[in-house]
Amino acid sequence: MLHSDPTTEDRREIWTAETARQVFDLPLMDLLFRAQTVHRRHFDPNRVQLSRLLSIKTGGCPEDCSYCSQSSRHASGLSASKLLEVERVLAEARRARDAGATRYCMGAAWRSPKDRDMPQILAMVEGVKALGMETCMTLGMLDRHQSRQLAEAGLDYYNHNIDTSEAYYGNVITTRSFADRLDTLEQVRQAGIKVCSGGILGLGEGTQDRVDMLVTLANLSEPPESVPVNMLIPVEGTPLQDAAPVDPIDFVRMIATARIMMPHSHVRLSAGRTAMSDEMQAMCFFAGANSIFVGDTLLTKDNPGEEADLRLFAKLGIQPMQVHEHHPEAVTPRDPAIPVLR
Ligand code: SF4
Repeated sequence: MLHSDPTTEDRREIWTAETARQVFDLPLMDLLFRAQTVHRRHFDPNRVQLSRLLSIKTGGCPEDCSYCSQSSRHASGLSASKLLEVERVLAEARRARDAGATRYCMGAAWRSPKDRDMPQILAMVEGVKALGMETCMTLGMLDRHQSRQLAEAGLDYYNHNIDTSEAYYGNVITTRSFADRLDTLEQVRQAGIKVCSGGILGLGEGTQDRVDMLVTLANLSEPPESVPVNMLIPVEGTPLQDAAPVDPIDFVRMIATARIMMPHSHVRLSAGRTAMSDEMQAMCFFAGANSIFVGDTLLTKDNPGEEADLRLFAKLGIQPMQVHEHHPEAVTPRDPAIPVLR
């Protein structure tokens, strides 16, 4: 038995490995129905938030994340670049805004930012904010001072994925610990920045590792406002280049379970969409995914182009979410004919 019914209660759940696994293992139709019911309680089911991601500093990272082409320890053939100029970043952000993106995510392949880079980073945050977009950064580990600096510059979100379960984490990364990750998330939260944190499927982890990762996220002092769920894109030259593909139904189950466990969060269908059919993406949206990355590339990996996304949205009757709709409590379905399960 589940210790409470997430379809009828909005109070904060404290999840255990067992209760979360019971949700994950529900018959698929029951799981999808529950997830869609929870989703409609908090979000317009026909709106999806669009984020655009730019690599502001590519490659040469000293960390050893075994899935990543940007680690200097792997022979992926990616060469390291310098931190982009502020003006270049703002020009890219302007283009993304004009193409409909409401959140601009900037990623640097660092263990953690250096103090000498902070003025440039802060100028990027301020400049993108001035364009009327939400800002997100992923720069590696942060200390308290850096978190506060970013908050003062107006950073809306900080991305720092926990990647997998605590038990499996050491199989994927050895240069920083699971506790280090949680510490950065806590610094970010205490500085008043919204948290974006999720993980990756396909690292060789088991089903319970996937569920345990969601338990960690859902039980944070506050669940992340954004939960990216990535499907590994194996990269040649990385230790995971021959990783087995993720079963599509397992991926959909993961999205639905994340939606039920973190009803107020934006669940983002992140890396791996190029390997997903339209039908699979549609199932993910039905399961409660309501955010995607748009644009041809995701840091260093392929992503469906904007035209493909627009075609898919048109087929599904999905509209891009506007910035003012991002807070779930601010959302009411626009069309009264849209059925909302209560
Ligand atoms: S995932 Fe991030 S921290 Fe890990 S190697 Fe890649 S760029 Fe570095």
